[in-house]
Amino acid sequence: MIRKLLNRLRKHKYPNRFLKFYHLNKKRLNNERRSLYDEKRKKGICVRCNDKAVSGIVFCSYHQKKQKKYNRIARS
Ligand SMILES: [Zn+2]
Repeated sequence: MIRKLLNRLRKHKYPNRFLKFYHLNKKRLNNERRSLYDEKRKKGICVRCNDKAVSGIVFCSYHQKKQKKYNRIARS
């Protein structure tokens, strides 16, 4: 009985239950993430924090600066 159970666990393709959860729910998780992003963008709220975003972009001035720095490092 216990051996059968262990065999079943070993055959499982996910290394842990967090990955399993992610794989089984990634479609829904990604959709939720995307709709939250869209909602914030429409409302003019920074997508990183909840401050007011600079008009035309999705970040507040603080996160705009951070993003610029990140892009510079990524491109160099
Ligand atoms: Zn921000």
